[in-house]
Amino acid sequence: MDPDYDLIVIGGGPAAERGAAQAAYFGKRVAIVERNDEPGGAAVHTGTLPSKTLREAGLFLSGYRQRDLYGVTVGLDEELAVPRLLARKDAVERLETARIHRNLERHRIELVHGEGRLADAHTVAVATPEGERRLTAHVVLIATGSSPFRPPGIPYDDEDVHDADGILGIERLPRSLAVIGGGVIGCEYACMFAALGTEVHLVDPREGLLPFLDAEMGERLVRAMEGLGVRLHLGRRFERVERVGTGLEVSFADGPTLGTEAVLVATGRTGNTAGLGLEEAGIEIDRRGYVVVDAEFRTAVPGVYAAGDVIGFPALASVSMEQARVAVCHAFGFTYKERVAELQPYGVYTIPEVSCVGLGEDEARRRGIDVVVGRASFADNVRGQIVGDREGMVKLVFDRASRRLLGCHCIGEHASELVHLGQVVIVLEGTVDALIDMVFNHPTLSETFKYAAYDALAELGPADEPGRPTDAATPAAGSPTPRRPPAR
Ligand SMILES: Cc1cc2nc3c(=O)[nH]c(=O)nc-3n(C[C@H](O)[C@H](O)[C@H](O)COP(=O)(O)OP(=O)(O)OC[C@H]3O[C@@H](n4cnc5c(N)ncnc54)[C@H](O)[C@@H]3O)c2cc1C
Repeated sequence: MDPDYDLIVIGGGPAAERGAAQAAYFGKRVAIVERNDEPGGAAVHTGTLPSKTLREAGLFLSGYRQRDLYGVTVGLDEELAVPRLLARKDAVERLETARIHRNLERHRIELVHGEGRLADAHTVAVATPEGERRLTAHVVLIATGSSPFRPPGIPYDDEDVHDADGILGIERLPRSLAVIGGGVIGCEYACMFAALGTEVHLVDPREGLLPFLDAEMGERLVRAMEGLGVRLHLGRRFERVERVGTGLEVSFADGPTLGTEAVLVATGRTGNTAGLGLEEAGIEIDRRGYVVVDAEFRTAVPGVYAAGDVIGFPALASVSMEQARVAVCHAFGFTYKERVAELQPYGVYTIPEVSCVGLGEDEARRRGIDVVVGRASFADNVRGQIVGDREGMVKLVFDRASRRLLGCHCIGEHASELVHLGQVVIVLEGTVDALIDMVFNHPTLSETFKYAAYDALAELGPADEPGRPTDAATPAAGSPTPRRPPAR
C-alpha cells in the first residue's frame, strides 16, 4: 500500500523546516509533526532568535552603544526593562513564526500537531488531543532537537534558578547573576546581562573561555568581557547551588562560596530522544541522549534519518538546516546536495561579537603550516570610528607558500556578518592578492580585510607574477604601518 507521505519529519525546528522544504521542492509529499503550538523549535522560541533579539534590544535600550559616543548617560528604567525586552522578542518571534507558516504552505507541507513517536521504520504514531494518529511514510527524519542539560546539585524549582529556556521567563532584571558554564550560551547571556547593568559572575571549570577561538581573539574577548564588568571565576568547579535566606549561594570544590540573587545554568545540552521509540526500533542513542548517525545522517534503521541538534555537535541552527537538507537528498537520491560543507563559520554573540572561519593562527602552526598573519583594527577604520568600536579587529591567516587565506577571525560590530567575506575567499581558494586588488565600499568595516591583507603583505612581499603591483608596502589610508619584508 502506498504510504500517506514520502517524508515525515518529527520535530518542527529549523532542521525540520529545511529538510521538509527540500523534499517538497522536488515534489515529495511531506508532513511535519510538532508537539508545540507553533513550529520554529529552539531556534525561534527559546534559543537563537530570542537570545539575539534580547541582546540587540538590550544594547539599544541600555544605550550601551551610544554611551561613549555622545557623552550622554542613557539608563534603563528598571520597572520597564524586562517587559520592553520581552515585548521586542515576542514581536520578532511572531514575525518569524509567520514566515515559517508561509514557507510550509508554499511548499504544501502538512503541519501535524502532536507528540510524535517512531512506531516502526515507516510509521509515526502521533499523540494528538483527539487521540492517536498513525502516519506512514517512505522516509522518516528525526529532528527533535535538544534541551538544556541539568547537572545535579541545583534546586531547579527555585524561582531564581534558570536554565537557557527558563531565563526568558524572568520578570525583572536580577541585581546579580551567577552564570554556571562558560560555553557559548553562558558567555552570551553573561555579556547581555552585564550590559544591562546586572553584576555578573561567570563560573567555569576550564582555565580559558571558548577554546575553539583563535587564542589571540579569545584573549581579546576575555579582556572585553572583563571591561564590561563580567567577573570571571575560571578553573573553578561548582558543587552546589543552595538558597540561603533571600539569596542563592554557589559553592565550589575548593575556595569561598559565591552569593548571588539569581543563577543561570548553561552547562550544555542533551538530545530530545526520550519516549521517541528509537531504541526499541534498533536506533543507537549515546550517553548524552544524541542519535548516532553516519556521514549521510542515516540511523541504523534503513529509511530513518536524523539531523540537527538531536545528533549533537555542533548543535547550531546554521548547520542543522544543512544536515537536514543533505539527509533528505540522500534519502531520495537527489544528487545536488551530497554533503555539508566542511568549512563552517562560528558566530558568538557576546559583547563584543566574535566570529571565525577556517584555521586559527595557533592551530595552523600546530599543524606545521608556515603562516603569515595580517591584522587590521576597527580603531583605524573610518566606519569603526563612526560607530565607536575601538575594540574590533579582523585577523587573517595566510599560507606563506601559496599566499592563500586559511583562516579569518573577527571581533567587534557585525563580526558574524563580516566573517563571511573571509569564508568566501577561503572557499574560492583566494589569496592575499585578491583582497589587495578588491575595491571596497568606503567607509565600511569590510575595508579592514584589505588592510589586514596589506599587513600580511608587508611580511609576504609582492607576488612573483608578472604584472602584479610591487608597491604593496606603500601605506594606504587607514592601513597598518607596513612592516619591512624579512630579508630572504
Ligand atoms: C540560548 C541559545 C542560543 C543559540 N544561539 C544560536 C546562534 O546564535 N546560532 C546558531 O546557529 N544556533 C544557535 N543556537 C542553537 C540552535 O537553536 C539550534 O541548533 C537549533 O534550534 C537546532 O534546530 P533543530 O531543528 O535541530 O532543533 P530544535 O530547534 O530544538 O527543534 C526541535 C523541535 O522538535 C520538537 N519536538 C521534540 N520532540 C518532539 C516529538 N516527540 N514530537 C513532536 N515534536 C517534537 C520540539 O518541540 C522543537 O520544536 C542557540 C541555542 C540556544 C539554546
